[in-house]
Amino acid sequence: MGEITKISTLNGIAASGDIAIAKAYCLAEPALFFGVKMIEDFAQEIERFRAAIAKSKQEIKKIHDATKIKLGKDNAAIFDAHLLVLSDLELINAVEETVKSQQINAEYALQCTSDRFISMFEQMDNEYMRERAADIRDVTKRVLSHLLGVELVNPGMISEEVIIVAKDLTPSDTAQLNRQFVKGFTTDIGGRTSHSAIMARTLEIPAVVGTKVATERINHGDLVIVDGISGEVIINPTEEIVAQYEKKKADFAAQKAEWAKLVNEKTVSADGHHVELAANIGTPNDVKGAINNGGEGVGLYRTEFLYMGREHLPTEDEQYEAYKSVVEGMNGKPVVVRTLDIGGDKELPYLSLPKEINPFLGFRAIRLCLEEQDIFRTQLKALLRASTAGNLKIMFPMIATLDEFRQAKAILEEEKQKLSAEGIAFSESIELGIMVEIPATAILADQFAKEVDFFSIGTNDLIQYTMAADRMNEQVSYLYQPYSPSILRLVKMVIDAAHKEGKWAGMCGEMAGDETAIPVLLGLGLDEFSMSATSILKARSLIKRLNKSEMKELAQNVLNMSTTTEVKAAITAAVK
Ligand code: PEP
Ligand code: MG
Repeated sequence: MGEITKISTLNGIAASGDIAIAKAYCLAEPALFFGVKMIEDFAQEIERFRAAIAKSKQEIKKIHDATKIKLGKDNAAIFDAHLLVLSDLELINAVEETVKSQQINAEYALQCTSDRFISMFEQMDNEYMRERAADIRDVTKRVLSHLLGVELVNPGMISEEVIIVAKDLTPSDTAQLNRQFVKGFTTDIGGRTSHSAIMARTLEIPAVVGTKVATERINHGDLVIVDGISGEVIINPTEEIVAQYEKKKADFAAQKAEWAKLVNEKTVSADGHHVELAANIGTPNDVKGAINNGGEGVGLYRTEFLYMGREHLPTEDEQYEAYKSVVEGMNGKPVVVRTLDIGGDKELPYLSLPKEINPFLGFRAIRLCLEEQDIFRTQLKALLRASTAGNLKIMFPMIATLDEFRQAKAILEEEKQKLSAEGIAFSESIELGIMVEIPATAILADQFAKEVDFFSIGTNDLIQYTMAADRMNEQVSYLYQPYSPSILRLVKMVIDAAHKEGKWAGMCGEMAGDETAIPVLLGLGLDEFSMSATSILKARSLIKRLNKSEMKELAQNVLNMSTTTEVKAAITAAVK
């Protein structure tokens, strides 16, 4: 591929492969500025308010219907709640009464009234009522936008091909992007292992994150190229540059077609060593992608997405259906289900957990589950019931001490006993493993290996905790180094510890699908590589060309190197 001329280019982090070329859709929140104003004709002002309510209702109905078709009834339920707020006569009458009695503008009357309702709801004991505060806040914003004649951005309603430009996208924003129209996205902040980046790879949406200045430099409607392979974003390219990138896109498609030929093959190195290539998934819908991309199993099912983008916890039956559909969909292939890993960049607003200064180091994942045992037990019960549908394994996230593992395991055993007493069936041979994503656990892997059935190394977190570099922060992304000898030594400790006890070791952090890391991981003896489904075929094609015995030697060498640069150079030299 020839050198490509660059003009007005931003450099970010290549988050999701492939190239997208389309107009920019800037997702900035519009300013809703207004002050208090005396009005002369209150009847006219009330009419204006009612018209804004009517428009908001129409708009919400449209969003509701589109969401229902795309994401199902449960995800659309939030908009039913918004419609209820707009029909709440107590709120509407209070606004109109304020306009009339104080002779002030509808915007100000609405804001004051809804602030009053919000603080009232927020102080209620009942969790359901507390959640209504968020609905009132959202709806107020929408009505204000109509009163002020300002358009609210709504990525769900985009109906032409665009590239989203945003400061940041939450994982649930990303999940809601309409792939028919959203051709790619670029953000100011975020890293390769932010969950929005991981999700973009699953959805196969080209993305460049962490550009720092995309929202400043790109205007709504600019023509933009997002190159998710190199991490570049080109603003207002010439026709010639567009043609060059179209060629690059076509070359990439041809390369993908080559990889696709490997879909039904096993992953065997050139010297006959088999490893398992599995997919990381977030929802039952992702099973199709895992199969179509030749996944030999699911190495990480991030169940927290089942809990997100909704208003309350999923019931045991809802969870059972989701887990069963994944296990059945994989048709006997292994499925590693990770128990709830909420926290960090994955929030659950309806749990009303206190805001933390360091959410990645806080009350999250297994820590929360051991404390909020009702939530944990409901999930374990659903998992146990689904285990009869195929080959389900359970994995606990963020385990830092053996005590935590033992407690979590004891709770699982209690739930098994309860099910037995009720005569409900579950598999007797469920493997139980842990994520190794905290350095303390990697260092003590020899002790953990005696008690767990398997390890899955979570390098997304393991790297950030080892290097003390936030995985979401593009300013410290230079420290986020998977090929650092210190990370590789930790990985080796975990694999060796597992093997010594006759257990298997996998990896489900993004490093497992990283072309540069794969040769060393193969050499270190990793048994299972779990990655975004879209990386599997490329990884298989690479491993088939590698010789495990040579990679073992390479691994020995790089473990004794002192810098990432040396390691990278040694890998490049060994894998031509
Ligand atoms: C990890 O930390 O490597 C991992 C796979 O989990 P998550 O990305 O969901 O934190
Ligand atoms: Mg993690």
